Amino acid sequence: MAQPSHAWRGVIEHYRARVDITRAISPITLLEGNTPLIPAPRLATALAQGKTEFELFIKFEAGNPTGSFKDRGMTAAITQAVADGAQTVICASTGNTAASAAAYAARAGIKCVVLVPDGKIAAGKLAGALAYGAQVIAINGNFDDGLRMVKQASERAPIALVNSINPARVQGQKTASFELIDTLGDAPDWLCLPVGNAGNITSYWLGFVEYHRDGLATKLPRLLGAQAAGSAPIVLGHIVEHPETIATAIRIGNPARWREAVQALDDSGGHITAVSDEEILACYKTVSRTEGIFCEPSSAAGLAGIAQGVREGWAELEGKRVVCVLTGHGLKDPDTAIKGTVPPITIEPNIEALLKVID
Ligand SMILES: *Cc1c(COP(=O)(O)O)cnc(C)c1O
Repeated sequence: MAQPSHAWRGVIEHYRARVDITRAISPITLLEGNTPLIPAPRLATALAQGKTEFELFIKFEAGNPTGSFKDRGMTAAITQAVADGAQTVICASTGNTAASAAAYAARAGIKCVVLVPDGKIAAGKLAGALAYGAQVIAINGNFDDGLRMVKQASERAPIALVNSINPARVQGQKTASFELIDTLGDAPDWLCLPVGNAGNITSYWLGFVEYHRDGLATKLPRLLGAQAAGSAPIVLGHIVEHPETIATAIRIGNPARWREAVQALDDSGGHITAVSDEEILACYKTVSRTEGIFCEPSSAAGLAGIAQGVREGWAELEGKRVVCVLTGHGLKDPDTAIKGTVPPITIEPNIEALLKVID
């Protein structure tokens, strides 16, 4: 059935002339993208700690069909793979890529194999990958081991690799920058986000540069990247053999797009920093309580980067317009959400008992 002409048609169709992938088939899409850009004044006040004032927006990428920004790149990667004749796709994943690849493969009617680190994947992500019918394989190793293995598999067998080294992923993911500029009328002063494999920061920068070059933005933002302190190879300048952090989506010791990310940070006059799990969890709680926006712990790393920059004085935010990307949904990781809270009390089913406990 034809869609009404005003309907959103997904990032490939919406940015038809800019997403550089095959046009041999119509896009494999779940109508990803067009995610909310939410003003967050109460969160801005909390992060500013009385030291500065700035305007803050949240790009809420949890609004994508599988609950993370990975869908933007996956619609492009799966479309390209199917056009190239792939019957099977494979990826290594900390969870969200797995869920996204599984969904888009299901949509295309092809097989999907995902490698995840045993025991280090949030419940909602595993649930997604399994629900969408992927073959999920847990490895006694981390994401970096998984990436090495799937690269080898794609060289030896007729299987398409859809990790973020796949160039189509970047083409899809850069549409988030276009949406920001289309909504705000120009680029923000700062773009703030968590960094794991560094595909997203690379993609955002590409999108900003492209719109700026074509006169659709008058300026370029500065990039503020945040890595978890236990998995901060780019900040440290060396590979981390055994990355650790509660923010499992960025638990990566050897980022696939390391070089591009450093270039983007340099070109933008940006900054990359390491934030502790405590700083991440503090912001993770603050964003849901001040704004009603529930993200996964990894997503809050970007906010923790802002808070740290204000506290330490290196973030020049006064009077600026800041966009922080919240990369994935809080429901992906219910265990972490529940762990940090007081469990509900149980009462008798009568009004007296209820009035007694309402504080
Ligand atoms: C993948 C992911 C990241 C990291 O993005 P990279 O492109 O690997 O740097 C951050 N947050 C969430 C929720 C993710 O799924």
